[in-house]
Amino acid sequence: MEQQRAIIVTGASRGLGFELVDLLIAADAKPIALGRGLDPRHEAAAGMNTCIFVAADLSVSQSLDQIDLARALPQSADEIVVISNAGVIEPIGTLDVIDSASLAAAFAVNALAPAILARKLLAAADARRSRLRILNISTGAARRPLPGLGAYCASKAAALMIFDCLATERPDVAIEHIDPGVLDTDMQSTLRGADDQALPVRQMFASFETEAKLRRPRDVAREILVGAGLL
Ligand code: NDP
Repeated sequence: MEQQRAIIVTGASRGLGFELVDLLIAADAKPIALGRGLDPRHEAAAGMNTCIFVAADLSVSQSLDQIDLARALPQSADEIVVISNAGVIEPIGTLDVIDSASLAAAFAVNALAPAILARKLLAAADARRSRLRILNISTGAARRPLPGLGAYCASKAAALMIFDCLATERPDVAIEHIDPGVLDTDMQSTLRGADDQALPVRQMFASFETEAKLRRPRDVAREILVGAGLL
């Protein structure tokens, strides 16, 4: 019998998340896109129910607490998969200059939101007796300190660690960290366009483009989905 699977992707409006959802729609997997908005190309899909949109601003933890995931998730599913993809690169700047509010916002989106969403999905999966699988879109920066990117490095490291702790608490939950490599998305153009003083390693990011090292998000999305057996 075919497996019943629900796949949630956070941050599907742009970049890698857009491509993940686009491929899943094309494969008729009816993805659940969670975020602040959808790309207009996917709004029609949501209207036709080939994709489900759940509105949430991940920088506001109450916003996640309030979302009604039960409405979006099927009543029964063998497996619930979440691709924790939404992320913010800002604030860019050394710790002595970045402001507290943007530091808190980075942690809210990159660390707190994935943890709160995982809590909600654990409850939903337990209630349905479904397996839960978490694909954490991580980064080399979660393990490597970079000047000017403390908020990003630390918040991505925090997400990695909370999922590693969850893995020790719940061995039945499958957790995988995926480093997608450097992608040709808005995140990289923000890094290239940063101030040299704010981002002492800006030149490294500029060289990713000049040396044609940026990966196409479509290719990476396909690689992730095929690698995870979701396509
Ligand atoms: P983009 O900046 O292109 O897209 C980020 C996505 O996250 C958007 O859909 C955005 O939605 C969403 N998002 C940001 N803030 C919020 C919020 N408050 N609430 C809801 N959604 C939000 O990023 P990429 O596609 O490049 O990155 C995807 C993932 O890959 C990230 O986790 C990143 O850390 C990781 N990564 C990226 C690399 C790269 O080179 N780009 C390298 C290694 C890892 P909205 O349009 O509403 O802002």
